[in-house]
Amino acid sequence: MKTLIPVVILALVSTVTASLTFSQDAGGSVIQWDPLEGSYESLVLRCSETAYDAEDPDWGTVLATVYPDSTGEFPTSVQIPAAFIVDPDKCIACAICISQCPTDAITADAEGKAVIDPALCIACGICANVCPVDAIFVPSSGLYYGLFGVSAEIIEELIQESVL
Ligand code: SF4
Ligand code: SF4
Repeated sequence: MKTLIPVVILALVSTVTASLTFSQDAGGSVIQWDPLEGSYESLVLRCSETAYDAEDPDWGTVLATVYPDSTGEFPTSVQIPAAFIVDPDKCIACAICISQCPTDAITADAEGKAVIDPALCIACGICANVCPVDAIFVPSSGLYYGLFGVSAEIIEELIQESVL
């Protein structure tokens, strides 16, 4: 969730050399990327309805944060659960979705913005239908995805992005 990232600075100069691919399986959405060329401490996967904008420091909604395994190697894909997601940039903290969710999967963060627990979400879509500002969505092939490398030197650097 974006609000949990302590400091977010998207590098203005990108070194994108490859592209992400989107697919779906029984467990949800699968975002796959090429083996990394740089050295990073972690990776952050974001998505947005609009193409990556290097001038926008808050571009995209965070879908996942990925860490290396015990050998120091990063995976080349991540599975996103079949659950709906709130775009905190759009959410106006009206709480309508919280009152309508049949599984109590939605709570409010410290700012009153909705947060969906993917473990409780049954992907019924009710929240997305009642949201007055279209802040709730489910990952799909029609969105833009960006993979950002995180290191001490460069807080976040776009390294791979989807091509629609
Ligand atoms: S899709 Fe349904 S279950 Fe999931 S958060 Fe929205 S209302 Fe709740
Ligand atoms: S209905 Fe939409 S705007 Fe209202 S709290 Fe839920 S996500 Fe935010």
